[in-house]
Amino acid sequence: MMGPHSQLTVAARGRGHSLQGQAQTRHGIVIHMESLQPQKLKVHGVGGGTTPFVDVSGGELWINILHETLKYGLAPKSWTDYLHLTVGGTLSNAGISGQAFRHGPQISNVHQLEVVAGKGEILNCSERQNSDLFHGVLGGLGQFGIITRARIALEPAPTMVKWMRVLYLDFAAFARDQERLISSDDDKFDYIEGFVIINRTGLLDSWRLSFTPEDPIEASKFKSDGRNLYCLEVAKYFKLDQDKKDVMNQEVKESLSELNYISSTLFSSEVTYQEFLDRVHVSEMKLRSKGQWEVPHPWLNLLVPRSRVNEFAKGVFGNILTDTSNGPVIVYPVNKSKWDNRSSAVTPEEEEIFYLVAILTSAVPGSTGKDGVDQIVKRNQRILEFSEAAGLGLKQYLPHYTTRHEWRSHFGPKWDDFVRRKSRYDPFAMLAPGQRIFEKSPVVSPHSS
Ligand SMILES: Cc1cc2nc3c(=O)[nH]c(=O)nc-3n(C[C@H](O)[C@H](O)[C@H](O)COP(=O)(O)OP(=O)(O)OC[C@H]3O[C@@H](n4cnc5c(N)ncnc54)[C@H](O)[C@@H]3O)c2cc1C
Repeated sequence: MMGPHSQLTVAARGRGHSLQGQAQTRHGIVIHMESLQPQKLKVHGVGGGTTPFVDVSGGELWINILHETLKYGLAPKSWTDYLHLTVGGTLSNAGISGQAFRHGPQISNVHQLEVVAGKGEILNCSERQNSDLFHGVLGGLGQFGIITRARIALEPAPTMVKWMRVLYLDFAAFARDQERLISSDDDKFDYIEGFVIINRTGLLDSWRLSFTPEDPIEASKFKSDGRNLYCLEVAKYFKLDQDKKDVMNQEVKESLSELNYISSTLFSSEVTYQEFLDRVHVSEMKLRSKGQWEVPHPWLNLLVPRSRVNEFAKGVFGNILTDTSNGPVIVYPVNKSKWDNRSSAVTPEEEEIFYLVAILTSAVPGSTGKDGVDQIVKRNQRILEFSEAAGLGLKQYLPHYTTRHEWRSHFGPKWDDFVRRKSRYDPFAMLAPGQRIFEKSPVVSPHSS
C-alpha cells in the first residue's frame, strides 16, 4: 500500500484540537495516538543522581504526565495553558505557556524522540543521534514522522502556587513590566503571562472569582469605564512550609513594588501546583455544562516582534478587536534565546524578545452577527492585513496557510531546510496532509524520464 505509486496518506491525531483539520486526511488513515500507549509512563532519576526525565508515549496527555510525575515530587518544566493535549501534538508545534520565558517552549525540553518516518522506519533521535530528524520533528507540524515516544526533562515540583493579577491602563507600561520581569536574572516569578480586557464596564469582579484583592476598599472603587485594561498575571511557586512562605511573601512584595500597575488593583490567590496547571480544565467543565465548549473556535495565534508590539496593540486592541467577552486575548513576551533555532518552529526573525498574542474568541453557533464564525474569521483576516500592511514582521503560531507561496514566506530562511527534510524523511508526502504544506507526490512511473 505504501510507496511512490500509492495515494495513501496518514495523519496522527492527538486530541484533534488543531483548528483547520491539520490532524485529518482525505481518503487516508487517521491514527488515534491516545490508543498507542503500550508502555507505561516511566520516570527516571528519582532521588537525585541523574537529572530526572520521563519516557512517555507520543499520544500521552500532558495532564497524565503531571499526575504521574508528581507522585515522585517531579514535573516537566515547560507547559501549555491547557493540559488535555497530547505530547506529539504540542511538540509538533512548540508548546508555549508562562514558563517559556525561563525554560523555553516544550520543544526545548525534550531529550530524545522515537519517530516513525514516512517510509515506515522506526528511528530514535536526539541531539547526538539522527539530530537532523530530531530538530526537524520538533515544531515540524507532523511532516517528517510520527512521534511515538518522547523523553521529557523534569525538575523538582513545587506543591503550592501564589498566583497574582494586577491591572494597567497603558499597554506600553504593561509590556515594559512584562519585559523587565522576563529579563531579570533573579527568579522573581516562575510564570509570567497577561491578557487584555476590552469594552468591559462596571466593577471588575467576574474575571477574578477566586482572587482576593490586597486592598478591598480601594479595589472596589476601581472601574474600567470601558477603557482597555491590561492584566499582568504572575505566579510564584513554593513548598508548603511556613518559614519559606514568609520569605517568599516578602520577596514577592518587593518584586511587585518595582512594577507600575494601578496600585489598588493587586489580586492574589493560593492554589496547589496541580490546580494551577490544570486551571483551563476548570473553565472547560463550566463551558461544557452550558453547552459552550463544543463550538467553533476561530482562534488566531501570533508571534509579534518586541520592537513592533506597541504598534500592534494600538492598531488591534480596542480598534479591530472591540470586545473580549467571548474568549481571552492572551499577551506575553518570551526570550528567543531559549528556543533552538535548529528546530522547525518559526519565530520572528532577529529580535531577542517576541510576544505571543493569542486571540481565543469562541463563536456562537449559527450566528450571522459579529459573534458568528464568519465575522470572527473576517476580523482575524483584518488583523493579519493590518499587520502585513504595517510590515510588523509577525509570524503565525499554529499556522494555517493554503498556498506554497504563503508557507515559503512563513518559514523564511528555514524553508529550504524544511523542504529538504521532507524529501529525506517523507519522500512520498504521506504524513500530516491536513497541514496543506506538501501535496502527495504524483505517481511517477520508474520508466518515465
Ligand atoms: C483549550 C486549548 C488551549 C491551548 N493552549 C495552548 C497553549 O497554552 N500553548 C500552546 O502552545 N498551545 C496551546 N493549544 C494548542 C495546542 O498546542 C494545539 O492544538 C496542538 O495541536 C495540540 O493538540 P492535539 O494534541 O489535539 O494535537 P492535534 O491537533 O491532534 O495534532 C496537531 C498536529 O500534529 C500532528 N500530530 C499529532 N500527534 C502527532 C504525533 N504523535 N507525531 C507527529 N505528529 C503529530 C497532527 O497530524 C496535526 O498535524 C491549546 C489548545 C486548546 C484546545
